Amino acid sequence: MHLEASFMSTATFPLEPDGPTFDAITSECVAFVRDHLMTLASQPSEDLDEAEALCTSFGEPVPEHGQPLGEILARLGPAIAKSVNTAGPGFLGYVPGGGVYAAALGDYIALSVNRFVGVRQTAPVLAAIEASVIGWLAAMMGYPKGALGILTSGGAMANFSAVVTARAAKLGDELHRGTLYASEEAHLPSIAKGASLAGIPKENVRVLPTDPECRIEPERLRRAVAEDRARGLLPFMVVVTVGTSSTGAVDPIGEVLEIARTESTWVHADAAYGGFFRLVPEAATRMTGIEACDSITLNPHKGLFMPFGTGCLLVREGGWLRHAHRYGEPVEYERDLDACDFADLSPELTREFRGLRLWLPLQMYGIDAFREQLAEKLALAQLAHAELARIGSLETLEGPGLSIVAFRLRVARGDGNRENVELLRRINARRRVFLTGAMVHGRYLLRICVLQFRTHVEHVRTAIDVIRDEAERYARESLAEST
Ligand SMILES: *Cc1c(COP(=O)(O)O)cnc(C)c1O
Repeated sequence: MHLEASFMSTATFPLEPDGPTFDAITSECVAFVRDHLMTLASQPSEDLDEAEALCTSFGEPVPEHGQPLGEILARLGPAIAKSVNTAGPGFLGYVPGGGVYAAALGDYIALSVNRFVGVRQTAPVLAAIEASVIGWLAAMMGYPKGALGILTSGGAMANFSAVVTARAAKLGDELHRGTLYASEEAHLPSIAKGASLAGIPKENVRVLPTDPECRIEPERLRRAVAEDRARGLLPFMVVVTVGTSSTGAVDPIGEVLEIARTESTWVHADAAYGGFFRLVPEAATRMTGIEACDSITLNPHKGLFMPFGTGCLLVREGGWLRHAHRYGEPVEYERDLDACDFADLSPELTREFRGLRLWLPLQMYGIDAFREQLAEKLALAQLAHAELARIGSLETLEGPGLSIVAFRLRVARGDGNRENVELLRRINARRRVFLTGAMVHGRYLLRICVLQFRTHVEHVRTAIDVIRDEAERYARESLAEST
């Protein structure tokens, strides 16, 4: 074949649509998304029926030739439907967020212009925009100037980089002697995993029992640290959880900070779930001290309702973040941080311009709109708690932990765990709301976590109705069985 034959004119190059094609494919996608989002409230909270068959239908080899977009989208629609509806108003499981549409527009622009923000040099103003978003998040947590941060794909990556940063700041190369402390209610799938990825031996992760309110006990922490020191180990990091994902408990940050100061350990606040409630004054008082922690994990894809893939790590003395993640000659500690590159602050090098998906909605709506949403979610949790407490067949914890309300079916005999797993199944089978459970102190609890921005009072009332219905029905059945 002649070399010439492999040259294409731009007109025939299908990866670059011409004007009319651009309009056509773009509006097809817009219509597709529009149809989906405008009907969210009437979609089931969960539909996984026969999802397996659909999975199989996608196990095809790569298509040799292109197909019309309309046909492709027609296959995608049913695939999206087969899922837990994490973007709908009935999603009260795990920790919701939502996916503010304006963030998708931010991504659309960012991915379309496809600029490289990993180093400042190639898109200095866009890198500055992302840095300014991180500065906003740092200010929301009360961090001083000199803090640095990085937008991550989520909380787990932020926690991982937090361990790496603490390790670099406090431990150096003595990995096998370093010990890390977190409570049994901490997010261990990310903290313990992050420690392991960071080279800390598994047996050096101390998981401390919590008090009845699911908070770390400072006295136990003090003892654990002292014992490890006496054994010649090097306690380098303590994790406080600001809003546990099971019950929304907030660790006593001030007391932990005091211990950490005398022991010279790094204190990381895992505020992936709870952090943004600091925007609401009444909740902010519950997390006093977060501004003094060495690092903070935030999850804008939870508390700022952003789409999945939006996490953040903030480091109070930003030089340590750079010190830990920078490739090149070792630098002890750097103070000139104004012009630093994102590539020096995380394991990633090339990535998308992640800042725009936060910057655009914050510009369009202002932080006030988010603060109002968060205040509403706290109030909705109060409402849910008050209503559930009035249902005779249920017991609730003392009060909501931030926007989480935990409850369980009362049982006459046994630990009730099996019954509560069954109650959860029955509630979710109604497909109006989606809840999840959690094992806390050996007891299986059901929980409502209100943090989907689309969840409003009518949806919480629906949830209460479904729960009341199913709990009372189940209680009657159990009574009938036992007599
Ligand atoms: C959700 C959560 C994480 C993990 O975040 P991902 O975004 O899922 O990676 C870590 N810690 C806490 C407290 C969380 O709630």
